[in-house]
Amino acid sequence: MNKIAQLINGEFTPSAATQFIEVTNPANNEVIALAPCATTSELEDAIKSAETAFKTWKKVPVPERARVMMRYQHLLKENHDEIATILSEETGKTFADAKGDVWRGIEVVEQAANVCSMMMGETVENVATNIDTYSMIQPLGVCLGITPFNFPAMIPLWMFPMAIACGNTFILKPSEQDPKTPMKLAELFLQAGAPKGLLNVIHGGKDQVNYLLNHDAIKAVSFVGSVPVGQHIYKTATDNMKRAQCFAGAKNHSVIMPDANKEFVLNNLVGASVGAAGQRCMAISVAVFVGDSAEWIPELAQRIGEVKPGLWDDKDAGFGPLISPQAKAKVLKLIAEGKEQGATCLVDGSEFTLEGYEKGNWVGPTVFSDVKAEMSIYQEEIFGPVLCCMVVDSLEDAIKLVNANPYGNGTSIFTASGAAARKYQSDIEVGQVGINVPIPVPLPFFSFTGWKNSFYGDLHAYGKQAVRFYTETKTITARWLDDDIPSGPNMTIELK
Ligand code: NAD
Repeated sequence: MNKIAQLINGEFTPSAATQFIEVTNPANNEVIALAPCATTSELEDAIKSAETAFKTWKKVPVPERARVMMRYQHLLKENHDEIATILSEETGKTFADAKGDVWRGIEVVEQAANVCSMMMGETVENVATNIDTYSMIQPLGVCLGITPFNFPAMIPLWMFPMAIACGNTFILKPSEQDPKTPMKLAELFLQAGAPKGLLNVIHGGKDQVNYLLNHDAIKAVSFVGSVPVGQHIYKTATDNMKRAQCFAGAKNHSVIMPDANKEFVLNNLVGASVGAAGQRCMAISVAVFVGDSAEWIPELAQRIGEVKPGLWDDKDAGFGPLISPQAKAKVLKLIAEGKEQGATCLVDGSEFTLEGYEKGNWVGPTVFSDVKAEMSIYQEEIFGPVLCCMVVDSLEDAIKLVNANPYGNGTSIFTASGAAARKYQSDIEVGQVGINVPIPVPLPFFSFTGWKNSFYGDLHAYGKQAVRFYTETKTITARWLDDDIPSGPNMTIELK
């Protein structure tokens, strides 16, 4: 059985672990690899390596750091298909979707290659007579990243390229459910010329994460995953006086105004709801129909019902299996509760299975109408190919509904009215808003800005906010003496 190596101090080394986690093919649940649970001494080795590398890396000229990222983005593009194939095999994502996962990560590496201008400080000449003040930003040290299963390329690439381009070193603990993709990313990073110790990758679960969260050497923690784990990581990291950014779960609403273009709306909602089997943190899981647009629900349900789940290399497949039997059990439980609690199940995917792959984690596309806010299919993040349809009378009611939801990752509105769109973007309490764009994931020159229970922290992922997160500001106030030397002691704190 393929035991996955760890990257420690520039070497891909087998772990001395006694515990291993099975990595499975979600299409049939066959074990394809074993991920080690890193031992304490391996965690210490990774930390020591990252601490040592930081001493020299922080002094490497910023353009040289950027050049590593340029070479890296080139290698990622050259190996795009190979990474996507590994990703598809361990997540079940369709090949096209896996390529998208990799691509959205490559875009962040391109941004990291532009780090020089983002590292600029500020200067004011003559803040007092002959005194100038200027600021510079400096890296923090060893940063930690903990990533989820659903984007095993994009989300690690949200983190370590920006952190490392800023002059830090990094320890990545990828999801134990699909660790092969991040190992391929790490391999290419070394090929790009990254010195040893800049990136260390260790495997495992909560014990490994908790050990690192409690370690003094770790200065900042980036996490993406579920709400309970995000809350635990945010609390533990900040209790240990570390800075933390934790991206968590979601329930994303799309509001459909009656003046929207019906054909465009329906086409967009199909992919945004059940694409990637609904396992996207920005998936649309609730469609809120305003007034007469409710008449479109049966046609939407029909189109979603036509989407065929299938194997990753089946070009006709709309999406693949769920990641694990546990994920499938949770989705089936919520579908059953939706029916029990009185929602109308227009399309029921709970019995779906793929012929020849009956042991896989398959759930077919599912659509509910008559969904009410108190039902568990509305309250909980389903993270499956399930769309909940709700109907309200007005835009104001739609805004009230979305704002009452505890999550605030993404939302969208479909409308032909500039006034409605403007009201929505202004009044909605959600961090990422699409106007006639169903899944508004910002490109990396902006930042990924979830709100409320979808994010704990203040500075977000990638873009300028990531540079702020991974650096500390130093402000220098300088006087160079000329002939005009001030006389006598200055007994105040005024600059004179
Ligand atoms: P998860 O929380 O189960 O796991 C995420 C990571 O945390 C993994 O690396 C895992 O090993 C680690 N972990 C798990 N339990 C832990 C514990 N008790 N202590 C310490 N570490 C622990 O999440 P998942 O199932 O891999 O990912 C799906 C979730 O991620 C969904 O809720 C989804 O909405 C969310 N997500 C959010 C965003 C976002 O940007 N907001 C993006 C992607 C995914």
